[in-house]
Amino acid sequence: MGKLTGKTALVTGASRGMGRATAERLGREGALVAVHYATGADAAAEVVEGIEQDGGRAFAVQAELGEPGGVHELFLGLERGLKERIGSAELNILVNNAGVMGGVAAEDTTPEQFDRIFAVNAKAPFFIIQRALTNIPDGGRIVNISSGLTRFANPDEIAYAMSKGAVEMLALHFAKLLGPRNITINSVAPGITRNSNPVFDIPEAVTAMAGLSTFNRVGEPEDVADVIAFLVSDDARWVTGSFVDASGGTLLG
Ligand code: NDP
Repeated sequence: MGKLTGKTALVTGASRGMGRATAERLGREGALVAVHYATGADAAAEVVEGIEQDGGRAFAVQAELGEPGGVHELFLGLERGLKERIGSAELNILVNNAGVMGGVAAEDTTPEQFDRIFAVNAKAPFFIIQRALTNIPDGGRIVNISSGLTRFANPDEIAYAMSKGAVEMLALHFAKLLGPRNITINSVAPGITRNSNPVFDIPEAVTAMAGLSTFNRVGEPEDVADVIAFLVSDDARWVTGSFVDASGGTLLG
């Protein structure tokens, strides 16, 4: 029996990258996992299939976050999927992982780009938590994915780093609000972590990025998923409102 048997989980942005690795890990621990995606329907279906092949339970949920009605759409799909499988819409674990990078120099960032980054990375997690509070029972778990860029300067990602700074405030303030219900909420800050960005196909670029970590390698999605799996387990019941550095020592300087 896994550590999360009998629990339900929603992982946003679970069609790829760290979200996918997290959904797979939580599925292996026994949780029924809602695999959220925006555009990657096939990829999300593959994640669900993989979890089921490993003996777990999962279903896919589509929603475009950062757009009007996106959070509502997410919860319609989530609650339908949960009710079909367990007879209620109870959600024990919420991982706010979906996010968009900026990749635009500060001088060139338009108000529209800035608003989009904030809408997906900061506003959506706030309203997902707000909406989820009626689904999450006492003892629930919330993890928000931030970034090492809230502690490590990169002038090409100022708006993105600002959005992640905003997301970190969720843990601090919601932790106080939700403590009496034994619900924990924490921020996880990855460093450079392999995803489908083509930069990871360029050996010289990977070597340069690896050099930022004290372990001299880039992070793998599973490195971060394992940290999240700890935070959503009972073992982490005494940890809330915290910033967890999952950057492979990048922030050591
Ligand atoms: P990926 O870029 O590999 O995947 C992003 C995921 O988010 C996909 O599942 C995508 O869905 C979903 N997504 C993107 N935009 C939206 C949207 N508007 N609405 C709904 N879903 C959306 O992610 P990573 O694994 O690289 O990153 C995961 C998290 O970690 C992000 O919050 C990111 O900011 C953060 N992070 C990443 C780092 C890295 O080096 N990779 C470093 C530090 C933090 P779909 O494909 O279905 O459209």
